[in-house]
Amino acid sequence: MLKLFDTCVRPILLYAAELWSVFHIKCNGLGASTDPYYLEKAFNKFLPEDIHTKYCKFVLGVNRYASNVAAKGELGRYPMAMFAILQAIKFWIHINDPLRNVNSTLSYEALTHVDSYHPASFDNHIRSVLHAFSLDHVYENKSCTTMSVNSLITTLKSKLMSRYATYFFDMIAGKVVGNDSSNKLRTYMTFKKEYKMENYVLVDVDKHIVSNFARLRISNHILEIERGRYRNIPADKRFCTICSIPNNHVEDEVHFMCECELYKAERCILFDNIELFVPSFHVMNNVEKFTFLLGSQEIDIIKTCMDNVNTWYERRKSYRPTV
Ligand SMILES: [Zn+2]
Repeated sequence: MLKLFDTCVRPILLYAAELWSVFHIKCNGLGASTDPYYLEKAFNKFLPEDIHTKYCKFVLGVNRYASNVAAKGELGRYPMAMFAILQAIKFWIHINDPLRNVNSTLSYEALTHVDSYHPASFDNHIRSVLHAFSLDHVYENKSCTTMSVNSLITTLKSKLMSRYATYFFDMIAGKVVGNDSSNKLRTYMTFKKEYKMENYVLVDVDKHIVSNFARLRISNHILEIERGRYRNIPADKRFCTICSIPNNHVEDEVHFMCECELYKAERCILFDNIELFVPSFHVMNNVEKFTFLLGSQEIDIIKTCMDNVNTWYERRKSYRPTV
């Protein structure tokens, strides 16, 4: 489904983006801004990104309240603006090529004309991007003298991806100023360790099983720890109403996976099975068990966890007072 998006939808959304994207992203602000995440924040505001984000949530089977960055993080997806910038750089090199053809000469002249009406020219935007990635020599020479165009684009793409991954992990850790998702992603950051498509997404099971597992991972679920957020209940008072000793356990993801009485029988079987793979599992505390189960990269463990989470979550939904 993601390949479908990349081959059929992305080219439409980024049509002629080599011309307009740098103005929309305001790449020229890179040099002046003191915000280390200036570019990544601009990526999030890039208009086509909204459609990309909605599509990622659709693929994962989570709702619109799910964290945008977490939904894309589960699929290892990078912002659309990143590809638009690469298109723009490639175009800039093309029109600056002294051996350019008639069409690119016309493009160059048209762009020079358009630039005369903008406070920051296309050229200035490109210079800011190249400078931010220590590629000033490319701008000074107006070409790639030490590498092929494809090598330059590959290098720049790699740097953009690395920078976005850093932003992502800083964001879920609450280190990004202006980010209000860190509380929501407090659990997610304990087991999300690599920016890539997660193995569970690739498991061949029904979509709703993937959906329920994704919901638990990125806190887009109906447990009290999330529902209480919308009723302004303090986090330490969002108790499980199902356990026989109510008002004693906060119903968070760890409680759901390792403590709640509602799933006790199946949990014993699950944990016994996990111990067959990992003998030391029984000595872990509940937080460690939860982190291990949700963060495992082993397909057998992932499948076992997904099946159980799906069964338990469907049962939990039947306890909701309202839908
Ligand atoms: Zn409980």
